[in-house]
Amino acid sequence: MALRLLLVTIAIMALASSFANASDPSPLQDFCVAFDDPKDALFVNGKFCKNPNDVNANDFFFRGLNKPGDTNNPLGSKVSAVNVANLTGLNTLGISLARIDFAPYGLNPPHTHPRATEVLTLLEGTLYVGFVLSNPPPGMKNKLFTKTLYAGDVFVFPQGLIHFQFNIGHSNAIAFAGLSSQNPGVITIANAVFGSDPPINPDVLTKAFQVDNKVIEYLQSQFWYNNNNN
Ligand code: MN
Repeated sequence: MALRLLLVTIAIMALASSFANASDPSPLQDFCVAFDDPKDALFVNGKFCKNPNDVNANDFFFRGLNKPGDTNNPLGSKVSAVNVANLTGLNTLGISLARIDFAPYGLNPPHTHPRATEVLTLLEGTLYVGFVLSNPPPGMKNKLFTKTLYAGDVFVFPQGLIHFQFNIGHSNAIAFAGLSSQNPGVITIANAVFGSDPPINPDVLTKAFQVDNKVIEYLQSQFWYNNNNN
């Protein structure tokens, strides 16, 4: 009886720790190509695994990142992400990537990836990039780190921190970014705060941003363009 209780306790603790682990897990097999149909499939961390006998090279393949994203939009930038949503072979592997195109003065606006660190390589153009640290001790300000990047430069944006990339050159810019999650997620600050559906109560934002409520009404009435493909 005591042994059974011990085993049940261990099982519950194992389950609890797996729920509490928010990072992408280390793979327990060579691959686990994501599969939408649960029939005859194994369930692992939110996505079903395709039967390995049915897996082929195309499950690990994506074509098209040679094509520039359409930057003809209010931000002048476009993120073309390749993650588990459009490359199912990434399932459980803890990695993904994105191509980011910038028109002259195009901006990838302040945003965070809740589940990934980003390492960015600039192929063409000139970018002013930066990230802001999380809240410091009372009385101190959130520290900003910035850098001007030229072709061939690499910059890291640590997981979860607010960051941006701004094309300060007179020509287009092209960057590629690796992200340490199969599904990094993106929270674009302005879109989430001022463009939510339904809107956040303006009293909340008026107090939070310490401005006149007309400023908040104006911001909430704007169209907040989403420059991510998914
Ligand atoms: Mn990013």
